[in-house]
Amino acid sequence: MKAFDYTAPATLPEAVGLLVSQPSARLLAGGTDLIVQLRSGRKEADLVIDIKKIPELNALDFDPIAGLTIGAAVPCYRLTAHLVIQSHFPALAEVASWIGGTQIQGRASIGGNLCNAAPSADSIPLLIALGATALIAGPGGRRTVAIEDFCTAPGRNQLASGELLVSIQIPTPAPHSGAAYLRFIPRNEMDIAVVGAGVAVTIADGVFTAARIALSAVAPTPLFVPAAGAALVGQPVAPAALEAAAQIAQSAAAPISDMRGTAAYRKHLCAVMTRRALEIAVTRAQEN
Ligand SMILES: Cc1cc2nc3c(=O)[nH]c(=O)nc-3n(C[C@H](O)[C@H](O)[C@H](O)COP(=O)(O)OP(=O)(O)OC[C@H]3O[C@@H](n4cnc5c(N)ncnc54)[C@H](O)[C@@H]3O)c2cc1C
Repeated sequence: MKAFDYTAPATLPEAVGLLVSQPSARLLAGGTDLIVQLRSGRKEADLVIDIKKIPELNALDFDPIAGLTIGAAVPCYRLTAHLVIQSHFPALAEVASWIGGTQIQGRASIGGNLCNAAPSADSIPLLIALGATALIAGPGGRRTVAIEDFCTAPGRNQLASGELLVSIQIPTPAPHSGAAYLRFIPRNEMDIAVVGAGVAVTIADGVFTAARIALSAVAPTPLFVPAAGAALVGQPVAPAALEAAAQIAQSAAAPISDMRGTAAYRKHLCAVMTRRALEIAVTRAQEN
């Protein structure tokens, strides 16, 4: 690995200042993607800026009005262990417990998962389904971007030069809401999703009143499929409605064939994973 300088600023303005003065610098949260990429030579850095000492990036707060704030450097194990997240956002606690294994979860952050912008990233479809937004800071101040607009290409995101992700904001789910993320992996754990489906639904009097569906590993970026959620709204909760939404999600997918599976296999899995995730989300919504 090529040698680099390391710094760990204690404030956000300091981190932004470093990024502005050294545009080739790389940000490090848990490092579970970055260090692998630096070692393999896929990425290079003269300076690595460790963001873990910045208090705002370590915030993990829930407010019933404002929703959930996940600081960009919060490691997955804190989400898994958080009682409010377990009760209000069980799907998020599950995703955090599926990223890598115990050691990885001690370092890896959801912020890093998002910024790495892998088409297969496990947290992103669920964040999209939950209507989450990214809070970004940079030399021009702060701005907010919907998660479905954050990734722009494999490994690329919306962040401009000098900008960094501060936190992810997830709105408090409406009453009778449920969410789920399911992925298909050839092994039981520590594998990259062949297909993942993140869904969130709200139900009133047996009818869907809101739904959002997103997929991973079937397009150059995590794929939001608004039409699949829209197809559920106004429909009674019944297997036919779930299957129809799953078919729309499947049609939107444009996967490639690779060593993990053919495009046709991935297409098939889109419908299966979406329908199964919807079944879990419906059960959760009915229990809420
Ligand atoms: C053994 C192993 C298993 C894994 N299993 C999974 C899995 O099951 N599912 C999955 O989705 N991923 C998996 N990963 C990938 C990785 O662990 C996740 O993507 C993780 O969430 C990355 O978080 P991090 O904090 O380590 O990010 P880092 O490696 O620190 O950063 C990732 C990228 O984002 C940038 N970055 C980090 N923070 C910011 C910020 N605040 N603002 C702007 N840019 C930033 C970095 O510069 C880097 O380019 C695995 C990795 C390993 C090594």
